[in-house]
Amino acid sequence: MALIVQKYGGSSVADADKIRRVAQRIAATKEKGNRVVVVVSAMGNTTNNLIRLAQQITSEPDERELDVLLSTGELVSCTLMAMALRALWYDAVSLTGAQAGIQTDNSHSRGRIARVDPQRILREIDAGKIVIVAGFQGMTSGSTLEADTTTLGRGGSDTTAVALAIALKADACEIYTDVEGVYTADPRLVPEAVKLKEIGYEEMLELASYGSKVMHNRAVELGEAYNMPILVASSFLEAPGTLIHGGVPMEIRNKVRGIAQDLNVAKITVLGIPDKPGVAAQIFQPLADGGISVDTIVQNASINNLADLTFTVARTDLAKALRVVEPVAKSLGAREVASDSRLGKVSIVGTGMQNTPGYAARMFTTLFKEDINIQLITTAEIRITCIVDEALVPKAVRALHKAFELDKLAV
Ligand code: ADP
Ligand code: ASP
Ligand code: MG
Repeated sequence: MALIVQKYGGSSVADADKIRRVAQRIAATKEKGNRVVVVVSAMGNTTNNLIRLAQQITSEPDERELDVLLSTGELVSCTLMAMALRALWYDAVSLTGAQAGIQTDNSHSRGRIARVDPQRILREIDAGKIVIVAGFQGMTSGSTLEADTTTLGRGGSDTTAVALAIALKADACEIYTDVEGVYTADPRLVPEAVKLKEIGYEEMLELASYGSKVMHNRAVELGEAYNMPILVASSFLEAPGTLIHGGVPMEIRNKVRGIAQDLNVAKITVLGIPDKPGVAAQIFQPLADGGISVDTIVQNASINNLADLTFTVARTDLAKALRVVEPVAKSLGAREVASDSRLGKVSIVGTGMQNTPGYAARMFTTLFKEDINIQLITTAEIRITCIVDEALVPKAVRALHKAFELDKLAV
């Protein structure tokens, strides 16, 4: 009997009707003779609404309390899904992340899975039950005297699903969502985007890390580390999806495969800091200690021994980052700290650009022709990212999709 892990995202379980429809799909999977473990996200906009509610109480909600609050979203959907299956006469049981054995480190709002103890799940499926697990949440290790609920970061239910599939040695890991698979660009932004039949882990990881929210980047990272293929497909339609895996044929790899965009970007510039050893470390160490990820970093050549240091952080981290950077900049004798949160990232991704000249030039020329000013550039082995005004991001993505002929991509 095959063991299948399925995950259904928030828009797929947004109301009672949708939950009932998804329950029928789960039942159909069970009817085929499979053992089924399902991960669900919170219904529709629940997580956003809970964050908003917390912010109405205080502008800086306590991290521990916020994690418990947000974890309730997935509890609602997993219990309702179990009820929907029971109403169809299937034996189903809902489990919290902790009951499902998801153990994380202590970092609230971005908990990393340290280990999965799948014993409870195995006991339930051995008893013939369909197990519905609340996604996006885990529990820190330790006794009940100290263990706390954590969440895995926005979009983290994908990571719950892949982690469970690995721990359960599942035969398949299927991520069901509101689009039919992974496209060459966000199909809501680029109508002519093409659905990919398959994509390698490395390309998917870059796309996900640079804004393609169809997959949580850490889920892809886990899939790659444990070689667990991940199918992304529609919750509503019976259509072939996209398989994320490690064995993508060479010819298919040899191209730009996709374009990602991300509006969760802010830029901080520290102006006029003394150009001497140790300055960068003094700025970035406290940011790292505060759990703030820094992305693109640029330091210009110094004039009169004074330099400007520019870097980007997630827009949602800007206030926290400024609180860290401003006193450090002051103590270093910097002239000013400036910031801009109206920026976006546009990235082209493809293994084909490795060691091949011309991709960057083509990207910059395309943006220039659209009269789009590039503020910052970063490159990696299989990705080039430009940071531009946020209002110009949709135009940039469409123009690049055309310039790299992704609408003609033979998948
Ligand atoms: P879920 O709630 O199922 O987890 P998400 O909203 O997190 O769904 O992710 C699905 C969304 O990702 C799609 O609705 C689509 O707008 C967006 N998306 C961004 N980039 C891509 C891409 N390259 N391919 C498919 N969808 C994408
Ligand atoms: N509900 C969580 C979120 O909105 C987790 C998820 O959907 O994957 O981020
Ligand atoms: Mg998601």
